[in-house]
Amino acid sequence: MSTQPSSCMRLYRPGEALVRETRPLPAAGPGQVLLEVRACGVCRTDLHLIDGELPHPRLPVVPGHEIVGVVLACGEGVSYATGTRLGVPWLGYTCGRCEFCLSGRENLCDQAAFTGYQIDGGYAQHAVADARYCFELPDTLDDAHTAPLLCAGLIGYRSWRMAGDARHIGIYGFGAAAHLVTQVAIAKGQDVYAFTRPGDLAAQQFALQLGARWAGSSEKSAPVPLDAAIIFAPVGSLVPAALRAVRKGGTVICGGIHMSDIPSLPYSLLWGERTIRSVANLTRQDGIEFLALAAKIGIQPSVELFTLDRANEALARVRAGTLSGAAVLIP
Ligand SMILES: [Zn+2]
Ligand SMILES: [Zn+2]
Repeated sequence: MSTQPSSCMRLYRPGEALVRETRPLPAAGPGQVLLEVRACGVCRTDLHLIDGELPHPRLPVVPGHEIVGVVLACGEGVSYATGTRLGVPWLGYTCGRCEFCLSGRENLCDQAAFTGYQIDGGYAQHAVADARYCFELPDTLDDAHTAPLLCAGLIGYRSWRMAGDARHIGIYGFGAAAHLVTQVAIAKGQDVYAFTRPGDLAAQQFALQLGARWAGSSEKSAPVPLDAAIIFAPVGSLVPAALRAVRKGGTVICGGIHMSDIPSLPYSLLWGERTIRSVANLTRQDGIEFLALAAKIGIQPSVELFTLDRANEALARVRAGTLSGAAVLIP
């Protein structure tokens, strides 16, 4: 192992701030790559981790699962050229043998391990990843603008796909994922209706700039009956609100990993063959499809950059909802 020092931000205990530390340069084991991190997105999931809302984190852990890096070294069995640019997403390992893995649903694998949760992630100058779960990246965007594609974009894409061929799509919570999904939906000829926190005129303006047909408070009714609604905000009370907004046969998709409790609701809101469903993690196939689509339609992420030692500040901004788009750490 090299003695070259490498900085990272670590979480020791839920509820505490991340701590800046120096560790020895990690080494790539068999099947792994060592990456120099060029950019790492800050995801709402990182806040759920820090807030203790995700079960069984491996502590201490380096958060961050939207990693853009370049290959510094390969472990046994991996042959990427030095300098190859790779993306590391949330899905970091699956068993490859269970019924989920064998049926194209590796996102549901019981043995799965996740980057920045059970595997040290990208809030760091260097990261080690299982090469089988890394993505080769299109060269249409620079490092900072590519990072948010790796979770906000990917999970947004998986959520959007669940909406099927909806013509009118509502999006609740207009953060990193929503601003990317909006671009996908509009490129596909769908109309987007953006629901934000009451009074968040900046987010509403941002949604309209991106081409949303309508933007308003989540307490307002939709201007048209929606065919589908995607909820990115971790707020359970939005589920009955979204059900109220979708027409018969419509779907409400919960795109986040955690949500406050969903209040009880009258059956009449679900009646009419409405569906509520969650979206869990991603498959590698999602990544391959989405990264190609993002390059093809020319997705333009909006990012705000933070140095690595400002990670806690970036997280606070995500919590407060005061970013237009995504926060990205540049080590
Ligand atoms: Zn499995
Ligand atoms: Zn994420």
